[in-house]
Amino acid sequence: MTAAASASTVAATAIPPPPSHRPADHGLNPAPDWTRIESELRGLNVMHEARQRRVLSRDFHWYSPILADELRDCVADLVVRVGTEDDVVRVAAAAARHRVALTVRGGGTGNYGQCVPLAGGIVLDASGMQRVLDIAPGRVCCEGGAKMFDIEMAVRETGQALRMWPSTWRAATIAGFISGGFGGVGSTLNGVLRDPGNLLRARVVTVEREPRVIELAGDEIQQVHHAFGTNGILTEVEVALSPAVEWQHVIALFADYRQVLEACMAASTPALEIFLLSAVDRRFAPYYTTLKERFPGDHHAVFAMVAPGSMPEFTRLVQAHGGRLSMAMDEAAAEVAGLPPAYECAYNHTTLQVLKADRGWTNLQVAYPQPFDPAPVLAQMQRFGDDVWQHQEFAKMHGSFATFAIVLTRWKGLEHQYELIRSIEADGCTIFNPHVVTIEDGGMKTIDTAQIEFKKRADPLGLMNPGKTRGWSPAMARAASFAA
Ligand SMILES: Cc1cc2nc3c(=O)[nH]c(=O)nc-3n(C[C@H](O)[C@H](O)[C@H](O)COP(=O)(O)OP(=O)(O)OC[C@H]3O[C@@H](n4cnc5c(N)ncnc54)[C@H](O)[C@@H]3O)c2cc1C
Repeated sequence: MTAAASASTVAATAIPPPPSHRPADHGLNPAPDWTRIESELRGLNVMHEARQRRVLSRDFHWYSPILADELRDCVADLVVRVGTEDDVVRVAAAAARHRVALTVRGGGTGNYGQCVPLAGGIVLDASGMQRVLDIAPGRVCCEGGAKMFDIEMAVRETGQALRMWPSTWRAATIAGFISGGFGGVGSTLNGVLRDPGNLLRARVVTVEREPRVIELAGDEIQQVHHAFGTNGILTEVEVALSPAVEWQHVIALFADYRQVLEACMAASTPALEIFLLSAVDRRFAPYYTTLKERFPGDHHAVFAMVAPGSMPEFTRLVQAHGGRLSMAMDEAAAEVAGLPPAYECAYNHTTLQVLKADRGWTNLQVAYPQPFDPAPVLAQMQRFGDDVWQHQEFAKMHGSFATFAIVLTRWKGLEHQYELIRSIEADGCTIFNPHVVTIEDGGMKTIDTAQIEFKKRADPLGLMNPGKTRGWSPAMARAASFAA
């Protein structure tokens, strides 16, 4: 979820028509010579076996029954797992020569079908480019396919830590996070990826017959951030680090959801050092099976990661709001006790815990008017009954505290899901719709013209996962003939 960028606003309430995934509709080569393409990629790790192609064409879009249905037949014609920037250049050049779609894949944990190849073509699996290249005070430089958890383990050796990561950090890559994510665990303290000082440098390979490398620094990285891999391939990135903290993984229990929200609002203060602050409806409790009495079904919970020095004040604040702590320990102690870390009880892991047991649910992402007022949440709890379970994240965005939600919604069909959307929007909230594939209908709400301008430089033929952005039309593609 990110702030609006610029230019024309896109309405979000209507049910969008299913998008076309036919290559010809995107100005692509309708009949590529795959044998020839494969021979041109000889020496690289090329996969063409049907099952491998299918597995490496999936991500977590299945949270949405709508996308699970729409994207069922979207499968790569070829997957190439790259290990170096030179490999990337070869694949990008081949895609341009043959004018076939190219979709970059990191860990494949994105929602919205971000790395599902809508029009087939080549999936470039970047997970082989995984080296941490340099660690310095306050910064780490690594290859785009490096996993966030591995980066954290490397920087920990120097007493430093990543400023934020998705709760999927064991599988998610740094470039996938920058291209598909917005923030996450750590955003309570350090803001979102878009906030100044978090992203420092990126190296981007263009998709052309003769690919080039473009270096971006600081704010220039916004041109590729949250662009869903549509405007260049990130081969190397540098992000900011903070001093490592031995976070306490905390659960606080409350009888009433208003108490939960008010406690989180009170804890959203610069006086407390909190890395994660997440409010979770008691109805999730039966699905957090390992927590048992630490999250019983008759109490709502706050899951938090709190600095040891802030624990006394955080505890006082919980008690002042009528709550009590049921867990407070570091991650190593939680592991020994067979308990999950707090971050696996927050963000989209809330949805995952339920979907692991029951596929009759999906989710909606909601941003509230700021400053946050609990009234719409409490009203929606009453209005939607058992069709919507609440879950809010308290983070910082653009220097201010901000609250948003990933609520669990019962799947009763497309019409019902859009009725819920419209009803939540009528309360002044914004929906970041996880049932659509485009950047604009999902998170951004507007066409980011700076990203489209950058796409003209980095993907002038419009080959990178066509169909993902409304801002690009095949007519914008630079005229080029297919390989002879
Ligand atoms: C349980 C769960 C919890 C989650 N929690 C969070 C969260 O806390 N915060 C959050 O922001 N997201 C979250 N997500 C979404 C997702 O996990 C993150 O955004 C993650 O960082 C994506 O990384 P990935 O490597 O898996 O990317 P992928 O899913 O592989 O790709 C994501 C996008 O990035 C593009 N991409 C990947 N690599 C490159 C590259 N090298 N160059 C250019 N483009 C590239 C892809 O084409 C795609 O559009 C969650 C998802 C799930 C299922």
